[in-house]
Amino acid sequence: MVSRRLNYRRVVFLTAFAALITLGGGASAYGALVYHELVERVRSLEERSVILEETALAERRLNEELQRMNGELAESLRLEKEWSGFIGTQFKVLSGTVGALTKLSQTDRELLAKYSKVYFLNENYVPESLSGLDKELLLNPANSHQIHSRVEPFADEMIRAAKSAGLDLRIVSAYRSFDDQAAVKSGYKVLYGSGANRFSADQGYSEHQLGTALDLATPKFPNLSASFETAPEYKWLTENAHLYGFILSYPKGNYFYQYEPWHWRFVGKALANDLREKGIRFYDMPQREIDAYLANIFD
Ligand SMILES: [Zn+2]
Repeated sequence: MVSRRLNYRRVVFLTAFAALITLGGGASAYGALVYHELVERVRSLEERSVILEETALAERRLNEELQRMNGELAESLRLEKEWSGFIGTQFKVLSGTVGALTKLSQTDRELLAKYSKVYFLNENYVPESLSGLDKELLLNPANSHQIHSRVEPFADEMIRAAKSAGLDLRIVSAYRSFDDQAAVKSGYKVLYGSGANRFSADQGYSEHQLGTALDLATPKFPNLSASFETAPEYKWLTENAHLYGFILSYPKGNYFYQYEPWHWRFVGKALANDLREKGIRFYDMPQREIDAYLANIFD
């Protein structure tokens, strides 16, 4: 009985042992398989991370290259812009110069010339164009006077501005031809003999022959005399005439001609303004400097 039980136990034990061995073998085979797969995965992950790293590096390099190219492109664009800006400026300067030269070539050089007993306007000189002055601007509306057509709007504006300031500024005389002047002068000569030169000498006359000079007065001081300097109209002129391009040709104490507070010459706004600012008389400024204003005399 005992041996049979033992036999039975042995059989169970052996069977279990065999089963364990079988299971163990299977498990270890499965383990190897899993292990192999894990190794494969790790390797593939490693490979992927290498690939990713390489890709990131390549991407970085690509970005750097793009940035460099962008920089170069931006730089060449900047240079391009600079260049076209430079060309544009040069073009403007050149067209400005051409414009100024064209204007200058079309502007009568006599308009800013200084006249003396030596330098005289040609007796055949006639302004390029003359316009009749509005009667209401004249001291004596029964007369008719002409002025250089390009100066007429400046004179008109000046007289009307004086009127707006409550003053009564009037034009006594403007353009005078060589023949008119000869008649005036011989008239004076009849009256005053050779002393006429003191009243009607050469410089002032030349400016009238240009058509750009005005003799101004006011009904209270109708005669062209030094007393005009006491009129409020004269004071107004000394403060405002430059705004309309007019200057007093022969101020008190000038070395060229007798004092003529009534005689105003158009020289253009820029020159009139600069003479006033610098405190220089027209006849004291070198002709070369004066000529620089010629191209823009009517601006
Ligand atoms: Zn005059």
